[in-house]
Amino acid sequence: MPTGFRLPGCLLAATVLALSGCRHADPPRPNIVLIVIDTQRKDHLGCYGNPRPVSRAIDSLAADSIRYDNAFSQAPWTTPSVGSLLTSRYPWELGIRGEPDRIGDEQVLLAEVLRQNGYHTGAAISHFFLSRKWNFDQGFDYFDERWIQGHAGVCSHGVSNQALHFLRSWAAAREGGSDDHEPFFLFLHYFDPHYNYISHERFPFAEELTYDGPITSGMRHEELFEMTAELSDADRDYLLALYDSEVAYTDFHIGRVLGYLRHNRLYDDSLIILTADHGEEFLDHGQLGHSKTVFNELTNVPLLMKYPNQVEGLVARDYIGLIDLMPTLLSYLQIPAPGPMSGVARSVRPDGAKGPVFSETSRLDADQVSVVRDGYKLIWDRKADRLALFDLRTDPGEREDLAADRADVVTQMKSLFWLWKAGSGTGDGGTPDAVEITEEERRALESLGYLRD
Ligand SMILES: [Zn+2]
Repeated sequence: MPTGFRLPGCLLAATVLALSGCRHADPPRPNIVLIVIDTQRKDHLGCYGNPRPVSRAIDSLAADSIRYDNAFSQAPWTTPSVGSLLTSRYPWELGIRGEPDRIGDEQVLLAEVLRQNGYHTGAAISHFFLSRKWNFDQGFDYFDERWIQGHAGVCSHGVSNQALHFLRSWAAAREGGSDDHEPFFLFLHYFDPHYNYISHERFPFAEELTYDGPITSGMRHEELFEMTAELSDADRDYLLALYDSEVAYTDFHIGRVLGYLRHNRLYDDSLIILTADHGEEFLDHGQLGHSKTVFNELTNVPLLMKYPNQVEGLVARDYIGLIDLMPTLLSYLQIPAPGPMSGVARSVRPDGAKGPVFSETSRLDADQVSVVRDGYKLIWDRKADRLALFDLRTDPGEREDLAADRADVVTQMKSLFWLWKAGSGTGDGGTPDAVEITEEERRALESLGYLRD
């Protein structure tokens, strides 16, 4: 590893801080709400193009937010994705490869840093992969996990009830307390769009279809997945209608939380982030569900960021990772980093950043990594030793593999994996899985502007 080497992202972060030029005597301490919807496909929200009326509440948030079109989760399943978001460390640095792996005690979570800096911290989560047992309660004053209901359950109403309980308790403490009552950080995790897909009475999209196939509301996912190869277009449409009903149900209950914030004059001043830990595949590449691949339907997630008093919606084509959220928040709050972070602090306005952003999965015997940069995405299936290159500007659905025709781009992009492992440090929980670099790849990195001290 070269000495004096720094990830360009780190330099960018330092530059953003230096250029911001608006250091306050009193750093901003807005209330912060972080909403993660499990298994929420980007293209199934209205603000990202779903023609069904599924997301009135989220769309209204989007109208006041930066809407990122090129946001990527670091993994296509819950534990490593949310782990990266809350620590700004990559899954391999966290040592999260499979279902039993939990966040290490030594990791510093966003909630811990915020609590140390005067925040009252609360969470309501609904998946055991984010539970106390998986060590995600680090830094939370209030941590509710009673709405973990499993694949067959319905939980969004319960998560929102717990959110409102937290907010009302906070408001009561403020009314009864001193002027310097602490701000809150509230982390909400909703699970309903995750399989099994259930039709909700208020949103009967599936019932509106004429359908007499084998799919039923609430069907066990094991049973559904066994039918994958035989599913017709009509089956897929029906599945998507069920999924949309889950999205709309979740949105309705997120709307109750946003409504409380608006009604109590907490919305405008708050910093609100909404995203997903990963998407969901509905035969986009021949499969159902998530975890085993890093295609866009799983890793290109929705991301809305509403800064305090933001009143205009912006659309950003910047390349951003969920791993960047923690350094971005801490930079905005002028809180020093608690230790090494692998993400990049982003400016409060879109800045046209082009990446690279990395994703990975090693769950269920998979071994895939991907990098997106400047319109291209390279997927490396390490198990099959196969590389696939896509031009996301013309082919966001990743249909046409350009690897054979664009060997130059493949070499450049592949060299970034070396940069990723070398530049991210050794990590605290993971074992560095060093990527060999060839002379050709080293030259490619230099041509991209990296490896210069
Ligand atoms: Zn998930």
